Amino acid sequence: MRQIRRAAVIGSGVMGAQIAAHLANVGIPSLLLDLVPQELTAEEQKKGLSLDHPAVRNRLATEAIRRLNKLSPAPLFRADYAKLITPGNLEDDLHRICEVDWVIEVIVESLEPKRQLLERIERYWHEGMIVSTNTSGISINAMVEGRSEAFRRHFLGTHFFNPPRYMKLLEVIPGRDTDPAIVEFMRDFGTERLGKGVVLAKDTPNFIANRIGTYGLLVTVEEMQKGGFTVEEVDAITGPALGRPKSATFRTLDLVGIDTFVHVANNVRQNVTDPQEQRAFEVPEAIQKLVERGWLGEKSGQGFYKRV
Ligand code: NAD
Repeated sequence: MRQIRRAAVIGSGVMGAQIAAHLANVGIPSLLLDLVPQELTAEEQKKGLSLDHPAVRNRLATEAIRRLNKLSPAPLFRADYAKLITPGNLEDDLHRICEVDWVIEVIVESLEPKRQLLERIERYWHEGMIVSTNTSGISINAMVEGRSEAFRRHFLGTHFFNPPRYMKLLEVIPGRDTDPAIVEFMRDFGTERLGKGVVLAKDTPNFIANRIGTYGLLVTVEEMQKGGFTVEEVDAITGPALGRPKSATFRTLDLVGIDTFVHVANNVRQNVTDPQEQRAFEVPEAIQKLVERGWLGEKSGQGFYKRV
């Protein structure tokens, strides 16, 4: 019987770190890999320690967990669950995915880097290993073009929502070649083990929730500009006044990452043919300017709001 005993999450940004935390919350250990170089401190070098030394590994793990715990809201049910997460460096540790039953790709929302990473993952792929992507809306089929049929059979989208500890929705998106037994497995696993409400979606630009949600956010910004409202006014009106959390519009964008939001909106604009829809997914200049300035939201300390 298929089981997920151990997972690997690749990409330890806003979502990857929190997905690893949610897996830890339900008792699943994971490797959490990213590009971030892991270096010895001057003191460790003086002592002649290597990156493999338990003291160094402990320090790196502690730092990764500290980063996790800085996220708001806290992604772990209990701080000590962090021990289930083993952080690592993508360059040195990718081979360790051989030991896992499920690999989740959670890197930047851009097709080419995702395709290249999946090609590398396939080198360590073994029969039965499920590989999924947390993309917000990039084509599942396009991501695995050129991969073997066996790999494509084990590949699908598993789209968590931010913050994964709290958001109940999990979109499961089969590709053209995904084995229906794996889709079924993910649906049950997502519901029973991860505690999510699973919705099956088709491989169309931005799937379901982000096709509607991105459009809603863009319309809100357009109306705000027309009406001359402030960021705070819009958050108040679209949030608590409607019985929604305070993070309804701009706080949500700060939480998501404004660069990621721009990628997600562009993905629809570039992949639909209806000119009206293309126009609807154009990102206002004011938002693009924030990205150019490096104001990416909570992850950079400043977005529409300054992180306090
Ligand atoms: P992020 O910018 O916070 O993190 C991306 C991580 O990917 C970074 O740590 C970066 O070092 C790493 N990375 C970038 N290029 C890489 C490469 N070529 N190889 C390996 N690692 C690379 O992004 P995020 O918000 O965590 O988004 C990750 C994925 O999750 C995207 O596909 C995004 O659309 C999706 N997603 C995001 C949200 C959200 O609210 N932010 C919600 C649902 C889904």
